[in-house]
This record gives sequence, C-alpha cells and structure tokens, in this order.
Amino acid sequence: MERINVTRSSMPSFEEYCEEIRPLWESRWLSNRGAISKEFEQQLQSKLGPKHIALFANGHVAMEVAIDAFHFPKGSEVITTPYTHCSTTHAIVRNGLKPVFVDVNEKDLTIDVNQIEKYITPKTVAIVTTHVYGYICDVEALDAIAKRHNIKVIYDAAHAFGVTYNGKGIAEYGDAAMFSCHATKVFHTIEGGIVAFKDDKVFSQVDILTNFGFVDAEHVAYVSTNARMNEYEAAMGICNLRHLDDEIAKRKAAAEVYNRMLGNVPGIKLIQPQPNVVMNYSYYPVFFDGYKRNRNEVQALLAEHNIFARKYFYPITPDLDCYAAEYGQLDNIPVARHAADTVLTLPMYADLTPEQAKHICEIILS
Ligand SMILES: *Cc1c(COP(=O)(O)O)cnc(C)c1O
Repeated sequence: MERINVTRSSMPSFEEYCEEIRPLWESRWLSNRGAISKEFEQQLQSKLGPKHIALFANGHVAMEVAIDAFHFPKGSEVITTPYTHCSTTHAIVRNGLKPVFVDVNEKDLTIDVNQIEKYITPKTVAIVTTHVYGYICDVEALDAIAKRHNIKVIYDAAHAFGVTYNGKGIAEYGDAAMFSCHATKVFHTIEGGIVAFKDDKVFSQVDILTNFGFVDAEHVAYVSTNARMNEYEAAMGICNLRHLDDEIAKRKAAAEVYNRMLGNVPGIKLIQPQPNVVMNYSYYPVFFDGYKRNRNEVQALLAEHNIFARKYFYPITPDLDCYAAEYGQLDNIPVARHAADTVLTLPMYADLTPEQAKHICEIILS
C-alpha cells in the first residue's frame, strides 16, 4: 500500500517553474535580492497587507532576525507559548533573551491571554507566540496587553499563511509576523521565510541584519548572520502563490471528511473553527482523550497501514532535552502538557484525496 505521510509538498508544473527561473541564465543574479525576489516581495505585499515584507533563507532564521531587529536589551524577558515548534523558543534564546512560558487555552491551544499579565515584569519586552496549526491567537487581547505594558507582539505565523481574520490578513496584527515557507508548509519556497513588519525603523534594520550586519561595503555594525533567500526559492514562491487558493481548497475538502467522520466520536476532540477566521487547513490535529485507544496506540495502528501521523507538538518545548534542566519542572502549563500527551496530527496536504482521508478515519474508528 502507498505510504501516506503527515505532509507532502505541492509543486507547480515543471514547465511553469522553468519559465520563472529562465531569466537567471541571462542575469546571473542568483541571490541578494535580484529581480525575482523583488517581484515576489511586491506580490506578497499585496497578498499579506503590511507595509514591509522581508524574505529569508528559512522561517527560523527569519524569526531570529525579526526579533534581533528590535534590539531588545540582552537578558530581557519574552512571554511565549510552550506549545509550538522549538524554533519559536530557540529564536528567543539565541537572541540572548529569556523565555517565560505561559500556558495555552483549552479551546484552540494558542497562548492563554488571561494569564499573561501576571507574568509581565519590568524586564518584559515582548510577547512572541504562535498561531498554532493556523488557529489564530486572540490578537485583539494581545494588542491591548502590549499597549498597556508598552511591549511588542511578534507572531510565529509559520502555520498561518493565507489565514484572514475579519477580512484582514493575519500579518496585519502585531508588530511583526513570520511565515515559514518550508517545503512542508501550506505555501512554500522550498526553504524560505517571510516577515511582515509594521515599523519603518525596525524594518530599516532588517536588510543589514540579513546580510552579516553590513551597513555598506566597508562598515559592519552588528555581529549578524546570513539569512538571505535566493532567486530559485523566490521563483518557487511566485509559482506557488498562483496556486494558493487551489491548495487551500483541496486541503479543506480533506478536512471536511475528517470533520464529518471524527467530529462526533466520544473521546476524540477536535479544535472548532474560530469565528470570523478564514482557515488555511495547514494541519489537522486530533486529540485522543478518553478514546478506546490512546494516542500512541492510534499512531502505531496507522503506521501498520503505512500511514504516518505525527505528534505535533510532543514533547512541549520546555520538556525538550536542551531546555529541561531549566524549564522541565514547570507546573504552570498543564493544558499544553495534556494537549501534547493526547495529540496526533493526521495527514494533511493538497494531494490527500477525500477517499484517503476516509480510509484514515476508518482505521482510527475500527
Ligand atoms: C516550520 C516552523 C518553524 C520553522 O520554519 P523553517 O522554515 O522550517 O525554519 C517555526 N515555527 C513553527 C511553528 C513551525 O511550524
């Protein structure tokens, strides 16, 4: 039987991609913001909304540079979520900042905005948190908290490309929003990352920080990294952007099969759609909580049928080996821990047919 992974990259046609990269054989401008990158930036700007768009080699380094661009004092505290890819936390820590973990809410597993303020201290400079699985954070509450305490909000929107709220692109919320364009995401550039920024001054730092800290040919102002996207990646982005609506519609069709077959099963919990949000169906998390089989058993059963669901996000970040000594004993994050212990993300990608989704459900329900 054909192997079904949790995700599978979508591709434009070979001809479409070749057409897009053809000019490179003439220009020999392969990286460093060539014509293709500039065109891609413009398209993204009209797609995503905010004034400033920057392209990066991948989502993680995009987040590192985005945080760095605010020049927070080293040792400052950053409120964050424990229920995310470790990248979110790594980006904070690698900037010399201290993560302060606040639990997620039970409804959609984004950061619990009602608990944030008790963790804010004079050293808090920002909230860095994730629109997990493409479910959006309570962006209005986060805005209000940030205003009240004069801190920044930076979103890990790696899962949320194409998501809108109240008719506005999700990148319109917060001071910066990072999208991962990794091959496995809803929208990809093979490897890549995008950050949308609001502030002119912050954005003015981004080009410099993306290019080793060079201010001009003879002046390097910061000890920074190389975080550039190349022209081949931007070309893939231009192609995939043309097909985004189709990509999301196909994912939706698979999600609807899952919803229908798993939506009313005792012991299986799903996250409900959020009001006024247009989703992108980036992941399909299912929580086995009191079901006849536990999460690990369901995962093993699917694997016997050559279907590979994943435990995103288990273990939660504070429990990972590199953080456990400092944060592994945290007892203020029970909701995140419980989600991590029960979650399985089912296969979800554009080429997953409704018949395959049905087959997966039948195995789970058998
Ligand atoms: C994929 C992902 C990242 C990292 O993005 P890359 O492009 O793979 O570097 C960061 N945060 C979250 C939540 C992700 O899922």
